[in-house]
Amino acid sequence: MIKPRETHATDFSILQQRVNDEPLVYLDNAATAQKPQAVIDALTHFYQHDNANVHRGVHTLAERATAAYEQAREKVQHFIHAPEMETVIFTKGTTDGLNLVASTYGEQQVHAGDEIVISIMEHHSNLIPWQQLAIRKHATLKYIGLTADGELDLADAARQITPRTKIVAVTHASNVLGVVNPLKQLARLAHQNGAVLVGDGAQAVPHMKVDVQDLDVDFYAFSGHKMMAPTGIGVLYGKKALLAAMPPYQFGGEMIDFVHQQSSTWTQLPWKFEAGTQNIAGSIGLGAAVDYLTAYGMDRVHEREATLVANLLPRLVAMPGVTVFGPHDPAKHTGVITFNLDGLHPHDVATALDMEGVAVRAGHHCAQPLMAALHQVATVRASLYLYNTQADVERLLTAIQETKEFFNHGSVSAK
Ligand code: PLP
Repeated sequence: MIKPRETHATDFSILQQRVNDEPLVYLDNAATAQKPQAVIDALTHFYQHDNANVHRGVHTLAERATAAYEQAREKVQHFIHAPEMETVIFTKGTTDGLNLVASTYGEQQVHAGDEIVISIMEHHSNLIPWQQLAIRKHATLKYIGLTADGELDLADAARQITPRTKIVAVTHASNVLGVVNPLKQLARLAHQNGAVLVGDGAQAVPHMKVDVQDLDVDFYAFSGHKMMAPTGIGVLYGKKALLAAMPPYQFGGEMIDFVHQQSSTWTQLPWKFEAGTQNIAGSIGLGAAVDYLTAYGMDRVHEREATLVANLLPRLVAMPGVTVFGPHDPAKHTGVITFNLDGLHPHDVATALDMEGVAVRAGHHCAQPLMAALHQVATVRASLYLYNTQADVERLLTAIQETKEFFNHGSVSAK
């Protein structure tokens, strides 16, 4: 049994370093999370003992590797409450999963004059695949807007989703605004109009309990690396009947049933969508990350982040010269907090915070249409995870205060 939070000093040795002569405070978790020793050990163990290609060999190592790969799938299945292992497809990550749906289901189902509805807060990964599909198919791409305090506007969702809508694709949790969107409600709205609901779970699965059956999403994609697994591994969940009716995404080894000179048939789910040698070690690392999070408890992850946000958000909102984007109510907020300092470029702010050992992200966060809607070119983003502490929050707030004073020579304009 993995010991929770209290042992993080040994679980996450990367966090024990100094950066620019200060103890590291890692607050770039929405970009990627650090890996616990258990995940690193699982990778090392696989390469030291079991490395072989899966599904192809009858020798002992191949059987061990295949068992570990398929066990990882089962772990993920239970973690997201998917009904069957056939509905869990290993991908490279969220981007790959969403492109898979757009290039197969979308290609098959969307026609000229149809509508695809997304939201203005989408990450480019859940925007460009639909935008390009709409261009290819002469379909219309529509956007659900935001309420005044930066939440998804559900009244607008009801207006945008119509009987002409074929696909609704919305993020479960925003990587900028820190809001959680009501996917269950959106799925109901989509289904009432004969459309499917595609959920982007990149910022949700690492931080909260996700039950894909309860949400009633038709497809749901997420990335391993944001939930402490290695990079290059992710998951696409899909309802079995939809997946079964979809054409393959890529062609090659592993995904065939029989190949003739002029035609081929496809193997069953989920392997129909796993062409070529997969990221075997990555999936095993993902299984270890699922074990780690399960042992810690997703309720505890959520509670821990909520406690930190309740301390951080109101103090940041109250700081003169700071603009916080998204809702200001901590109860409506995930551990993603995005802000700007008056008159300072976000990159300068992030660089100044790095000088204090505090790692945050600055930029458009792969959400340029959202930046335009917020009338910003870029923002600063601090994002929390289960290993962050109240001391980290204090360090961030102090570093922001010092940054303001440094650039403004001590005179900060009132809000
Ligand atoms: N969707 C959201 C909401 C994200 O935050 C991200 C990554 O930042 C992605 C999709 C893309 O994830 P990946 O780059 O792992 O494919």
